[in-house]
Amino acid sequence: MKLVVATNNPHKLVEFRRILEPIGFQVLSQKEAGVQVNPEENGETFADNARIKALAVYEACGLPCVADDSGLCIDALDGRPGVHSARYLGEDTPQEQKNAGILKEMANVPKEKRGAQFVSAICCVLTRDELVETVGICSGEIGEKPLGEGGFGYDPIFMVNGKSYSQLSGGEKDAISHRGKALRQLHDRLKNRFDDKK
Ligand code: IMP
Repeated sequence: MKLVVATNNPHKLVEFRRILEPIGFQVLSQKEAGVQVNPEENGETFADNARIKALAVYEACGLPCVADDSGLCIDALDGRPGVHSARYLGEDTPQEQKNAGILKEMANVPKEKRGAQFVSAICCVLTRDELVETVGICSGEIGEKPLGEGGFGYDPIFMVNGKSYSQLSGGEKDAISHRGKALRQLHDRLKNRFDDKK
């Protein structure tokens, strides 16, 4: 089944391909589908924003689309940056500075209170009236300093079982990540749906 990934984030596209292609989806980027849209993500929740993105791309190309809205929710910061993860501390602020800013805000937070969750809300639009929505959560904690070279975004400061997301290989990250969990659920939901219609 062909799925257009509604994202302008090349790192997310790599993860979508890495997770969805081995389980049987043919992944198309927005560029490959000839779509150029950048809808305003003005929803109040991850799920709202995923729906906004997936529907915008679906309306532009008419093919099944999938979008993720994701972010980092830090307990000690009352859930921030949350849905504002991409824009936190300024949309054009380099990611290294954002990570440093969060570590500064967390400077006096003891280890046992450094809990955080990465959340991914996925919306798959099959037709205008048929949406499949899933959520994946990965629980971890905010490290004391950035660690690792791989990944993107907040990966260097998000620790799971003693390693940052950046220190994991792609496959290791996908096996435990918020996006990996949400996309595998999507696969199961679509499989059940198509099996039911056979
Ligand atoms: P979105 O494109 O509005 O969903 O923005 C999500 C933002 O959350 C990204 O720009 C990243 O800063 C952050 N983010 C989401 N998923 C990840 C991840 O897997 N690793 C690191 N940062 C992430």
